[in-house]
Amino acid sequence: ESETTKRRNLADDAEARKKVLPDIRERSRQEYLRDRTDKQMKMLELGILDEDTLFKDEKLTKKEKKELELKKETLRLTKERLSLSGKTDDYAMPEDYITEKGKIDKKKKESVLYQRYEEDRDQHRFVTDQDQWEQNQIVKSQLKVGAQDRIKQEEQYEYVFDDQSIEFLNWDWKSNSQDDEIMAKIDEAEKKAKTIEETRKSLPIYAFRDELLNAIEEFQVLVIVGETGSGKTTQLPQYLYESGYTKGGKKVGCTQPRRVAAMSVAARVSEEMGVKLGYEVGYSIRFEDCTSDKTIIKYMTDGMLLREFLTEPLLDGYNCLIIDEAHERTLHTDVLFGLVKDIARSRPDLKLLISSATLDAQKFADYFDGAPIFSIPGKPYPVQICYTKSPEANYIGAAVTTVMQLHITQQKGDILVFLTGQEEIETVQESLQQACRVLGSKIRELIICPIYANLPPDMQGKIFEPTPPGARKVILATNIAETSITIDGVSFVIDPGFVKQNFYSAKTRLETLEVVTCSRASATQRAGRAGRVGPGHCFRLYTKHAYANEMEENNVPEIKRTNLGNVVLTLKSIGIRDVMSFEFMDPPHEQALISALKDLSDLGALNNEGELTKLGRRMAEYPLDPMLSKTIINSEKYHCSEDVISIISMLNVQSSVFYRPKDKKFHADKARQNFTKPGGDHLTLLNVWEQWVDTNYSLHWCHENFIVYRSMTRARDVRDQLVSLCERTEVKLESNPNPADIVPIQKSFVAGFFMNTARLLPFGDSYQKIKFGEAGRRIYIHPSSSLFQTPPKWVLYYELVATQKDYMRQVMEIQPQWLVEAAPTCYTKAE
Ligand code: ADP
Ligand code: MG
Repeated sequence: ESETTKRRNLADDAEARKKVLPDIRERSRQEYLRDRTDKQMKMLELGILDEDTLFKDEKLTKKEKKELELKKETLRLTKERLSLSGKTDDYAMPEDYITEKGKIDKKKKESVLYQRYEEDRDQHRFVTDQDQWEQNQIVKSQLKVGAQDRIKQEEQYEYVFDDQSIEFLNWDWKSNSQDDEIMAKIDEAEKKAKTIEETRKSLPIYAFRDELLNAIEEFQVLVIVGETGSGKTTQLPQYLYESGYTKGGKKVGCTQPRRVAAMSVAARVSEEMGVKLGYEVGYSIRFEDCTSDKTIIKYMTDGMLLREFLTEPLLDGYNCLIIDEAHERTLHTDVLFGLVKDIARSRPDLKLLISSATLDAQKFADYFDGAPIFSIPGKPYPVQICYTKSPEANYIGAAVTTVMQLHITQQKGDILVFLTGQEEIETVQESLQQACRVLGSKIRELIICPIYANLPPDMQGKIFEPTPPGARKVILATNIAETSITIDGVSFVIDPGFVKQNFYSAKTRLETLEVVTCSRASATQRAGRAGRVGPGHCFRLYTKHAYANEMEENNVPEIKRTNLGNVVLTLKSIGIRDVMSFEFMDPPHEQALISALKDLSDLGALNNEGELTKLGRRMAEYPLDPMLSKTIINSEKYHCSEDVISIISMLNVQSSVFYRPKDKKFHADKARQNFTKPGGDHLTLLNVWEQWVDTNYSLHWCHENFIVYRSMTRARDVRDQLVSLCERTEVKLESNPNPADIVPIQKSFVAGFFMNTARLLPFGDSYQKIKFGEAGRRIYIHPSSSLFQTPPKWVLYYELVATQKDYMRQVMEIQPQWLVEAAPTCYTKAE
């Protein structure tokens, strides 16, 4: 390379840089604007900011004003329509009636709205319950704040408590001041600054210490049931230690479904025992091992104990195992049940304690061959339950208002609010801080303590610190505070009735986190948290009717909520060879297990001996349908993982991407036509996604192109989850180097979906599955597919829906030789 070329290259670079710079600047400005309007929206929604103030804001440009107005309208409409029809995949186009100046043209709006309403009604006549339900799930989880299905009408929350209060049945804000009994109890509790020894002795479990130890001595397996806070988690391991079960360096292990619980309980117990955390008492969670050779009491997540099975199949290091929080029924705990039951047979010296907070312990006892149940009688105080008079539009706003109302009207007692996740907790925290700032010295100090899974450990301790006199603590927690962690001093519980759960949908094949109504069992547990110091109150932000009719009786065990293929992968990955004879507490159908095994071996996750392959081990890390996880892992080979996860995110919302309003059918169809790409629906969806990204996730762009904005933001959320999964499992994120060449993407999908492939039959439009299908069964390309008019000879599809005909939805053109390449054991050249 000569000096001149070098210099020229540098010069070129400088030129290029100059060209690029403004572009970057413009982009970051746009991002800034988007963030800003998003934030303002949220504030509007919560009533922290009122419209007039916002629109008087000098700094708002005309464009921003319009953007904000559009967003606001979309949100309002979404809510309104939900309440009108209970239907969810409607679509509002505020631009139809918002003028250039950002004002609303009322007349136009009414007519547009009515038209949309009618369309909706018509459209929804043909929607199945399943569709609606899934849409509902999507909407619920997509709008990060607000109980969307409860929305009655738009309400603004203001911190004026005289006339803007949440109304509860059998509770009157004006006259219901705290009664003397509670006050006395709380005073008493406050006065008694107990020593650690006194605290230990005051726990309900203490009275039964000797009886318990005798029972443990006598029986190998014991089921222990006791109210939350009775001392099971913190005391049991210590009792075992004190009576010599850890002699000779053997350990007492105690599992927790949640990492925060494992950490905080270990910290507490080390304090009670007067040792340094990580020495005699330690904990082990994923990516963090805080134990040493000295450790004899070890708290750990259930997943970590599973990992220990791999290296130590008989768990010889342990003399006692406590499977705590058994009622939570996480997948890992359920698998543990089967494993420890097995070990107990070959290790008669091992003591096994199954501990649970709910009274439904018989199931555990039955499962462990009639193990005895030891109940620790609790002495909870009565808790008054107050339901709202009518459904609450926005549970976040309602929770904030109720906290403030309580803080102002009630003299004493801490408040515990159950929220669904970090984001909600932070929102509420901000709103409360804002409210306190506004009210200033007019109110007493309110100490806000958040607690959720990713809270840094040093912040976790704060929730256990005693509340200083004159102040009040409000704890914002996820359902971790339901039974895993006991916080003393709570007199008021606020329960919006929601929980975030992972959820597998057989239809979309994805396991995602969704916000859903909690069960009645959870609601009961939550209310119970108010009755530990004295008689308490629980404010349910839903109606009595909703409690009786909309909530499930019990939580569904995780094993029933995940994909069976993944359950099998999990079992295999911890070395269970014979999945068929594994003793599940809630066994899946035998036939379903067999076909899951068969699918996994066809996919190459299991070898001929039924052992996990290297590929299978990687697939086990994904909470996805095995067909999808294989597609993602294989995309690495074809250097197009970015494109593939974009497509998968879009497939998740596929049925609600395009909108087709009655009066604009022609335009909508044309817009949709413009997105069509060669190769089929997958690539068309990718095109939609990429264009949307190029416009910086624009709402306008969606309106202009008849794309449902909500579905797109939902896809973005799913994609974010997939990206972090790829990072965790070290799948390299790369974009298809040559977008014109779609073969890498097609091949990636063939690798995962070769079981969903079909061949066009001569003389017509019907297909037959190449393999894996019933003989003679005809299937068809769905009319909504871009390949409907020009059916290719060989296709791959995402799903088969049976309506009048068996339709393939989301179809991609493929080459038969790719099948041989992707699944040589299933396909040969002749086919
Ligand atoms: P259970 O497992 O039966 O629900 P725990 O053993 O978790 O009960 O709780 C017993 C007591 O220990 C509770 O009253 C709680 O106040 C106290 N406690 C538990 N963890 C901590 C902690 N990290 N800091 C301070 N106190 C704690
Ligand atoms: Mg416990």
